[in-house]
Amino acid sequence: MKDNLLHDAFGSLNLGVLVVDARYRITLWNVWLAAHTGRSAAEALGQDFFEVFPDLQHHRVGVAIHQAICHNLPSLLSQSLHRSPFPLFADPSEPGQRISQAITITPLGGDERHCMIQINDVSTAVRREALLREQAHVLLSQSLSDGLTGVGNRRHFDLCLDKEWRAAKRNGKPLSLLMIDVDFFKPYNDHYGHQQGDLCLQLVAAAMRKALRRPEDMLFRYGGEEFCALLPGTRPADAIEVAESVRASVLALRLPHVRSADGDTVSVSVGAASYGPRAQIGHTQLVQAADSALYEAKRAGRNRVRASAAF
Ligand code: GH3
Ligand code: MG
Ligand code: MG
Repeated sequence: MKDNLLHDAFGSLNLGVLVVDARYRITLWNVWLAAHTGRSAAEALGQDFFEVFPDLQHHRVGVAIHQAICHNLPSLLSQSLHRSPFPLFADPSEPGQRISQAITITPLGGDERHCMIQINDVSTAVRREALLREQAHVLLSQSLSDGLTGVGNRRHFDLCLDKEWRAAKRNGKPLSLLMIDVDFFKPYNDHYGHQQGDLCLQLVAAAMRKALRRPEDMLFRYGGEEFCALLPGTRPADAIEVAESVRASVLALRLPHVRSADGDTVSVSVGAASYGPRAQIGHTQLVQAADSALYEAKRAGRNRVRASAAF
């Protein structure tokens, strides 16, 4: 290859290349580096590397250069651990955020040891990764929340129940569960229409969420017009109190329901079940217990709370 061709190719490299000698003097400095440091080759060549980059003296980059020169050891500095060690900017005359860098350090030569440092601009990849992570986060939270009411969905409930169940066992704390069902909702839909039914579910969910005051209490839509609340660290007596305030919060909405066989406003029935940390049951039984307490509340006339015997 002709020298001028090699020179052109080197000058056109889309990465930073610099070489230091065994005394850490800069002996090669390419065009890309000049463009992104604002320092020309004439200004950099012959300079002490650590005078040009004082911050790198005790940095992993400095250590890696030392290892290359003294021990012939190459290094690869990933962007995830060392995001932007060199002060490199897209436009050095307006230095904003540093370019994200992936750095390769390679020992060169034999007796007269040199060290080559290659710096790749990985800013685009880093930005793309951050965007993808953000999108994944949004998708995950969408996949766990109910589209109509915004509370957790059934999938989220299953995940949380399992997690809280294991935490309760591990920490010797109680765990309570409320199963909640809107009363006479089929006649509500029949009378007011499905759209009004949807709105009713949204209002009921919002009221119940507000009624759960502890930040660790969680509300979910179990399916249809059924909701459930997971109450970590809550003993049976306290669970009944929370259930009562959930029931009262829906009644306080005073949403008209002329087809209710019980009163003239929308109401809910609540079944509560609690698990003590020494109980020998699985979480399926906790759900079953809350469900049968809910059935009792329905049988007893609706708009009320019933609790199963605690485990
Ligand atoms: P009960 O007091 O015994 O609970 O009687 P109910 O009428 O509430 O119970 P049922 O299970 O017979 O009816 C539930 C109704 O909830 C039927 C269904 O059309 C309605 N439903 C379920 N999901 C939705 C929804 O997302 N939107 C609307 N508008 N209605 C729903
Ligand atoms: Mg119902
Ligand atoms: Mg139901």
